[in-house]
Amino acid sequence: MNTENVDRLVLLGSKGGPAVRPGGPWPSSSLLEIGGRTIVVDCGLGVTRALTDAGVSLKALDLIFVTHLHSDHVLELGPLIHTAWTAGLATPVTVFGPPGTGHYWQCFCQAMEFDIEIRIIDEGRPDIRDLITVEEFGEGSILDERGLTVTSLRVDHPPVTDCFALRFEQGGKSVVFSADTAFFPPLAEFAKAADILVHEAMLEEGVERLVARTGNGARLREHLLASHSFADEAGRIASDAGVKRLVLNHLIPADDPAIGEDDWIDAVRKTWFGDLTIARDGLVVGLGGQKAASGEETA
Ligand SMILES: [Zn+2]
Ligand SMILES: [Zn+2]
Repeated sequence: MNTENVDRLVLLGSKGGPAVRPGGPWPSSSLLEIGGRTIVVDCGLGVTRALTDAGVSLKALDLIFVTHLHSDHVLELGPLIHTAWTAGLATPVTVFGPPGTGHYWQCFCQAMEFDIEIRIIDEGRPDIRDLITVEEFGEGSILDERGLTVTSLRVDHPPVTDCFALRFEQGGKSVVFSADTAFFPPLAEFAKAADILVHEAMLEEGVERLVARTGNGARLREHLLASHSFADEAGRIASDAGVKRLVLNHLIPADDPAIGEDDWIDAVRKTWFGDLTIARDGLVVGLGGQKAASGEETA
């Protein structure tokens, strides 16, 4: 439960891809606190630390959504839940993910069986396997509960077919996450008039440099171009959808010293002229005009 009752979005991890480097940003995860619900979207490496840095009690974990099973979105799902359990989690948590999420969770519990069994016996903890429900979803309505609705749209992220954009609506506010996707025009309808669209983005010149310094450059370039969106394409979706604010997230590249916030802004301003946020780890975006905590982006 969000006790401060201030609706906010926190970009916990803002880089695209699973690799981390000294001083660099961390893989994909976000926190959405809306209408008293504590919602985690994607669980890339670092999500647990980032949640506690954002002041969230792990015992308050409520809903977790995974957009797809690439490791930069799911690697720390099990460790997050397990750590919350050792921190005293005693209320049910529902994990919504694409087909295969249940298999991940079962295998994680198997891998940690020794520790889980011993803590139940030795420390009298509830069985973690009874606290967690995994709901595998496809396209359409995912959740309609206490004024919160969540819907999904299959996006274009080859070779992954089960990758879903998510739309959260509560009390007249709406936040849409694009997930990982190539330029996908149906997203504009899905994100129609949302308060915030969090869209993935790459920067063309940065991709060329990334490819040049990577061993299997040609294959990497092929994957990136087929499966992800350039910043101006994210801007095009935001404009067509008529959203109130665009957040560029899952940045590729995210840790090239030659690329700064101005480069991202220049690229997206070709197609988007509204409120704009370039994600960085820990950045807070207020929802619905309320004043959020320090670090809020207003540009
Ligand atoms: Zn990704
Ligand atoms: Zn992906």
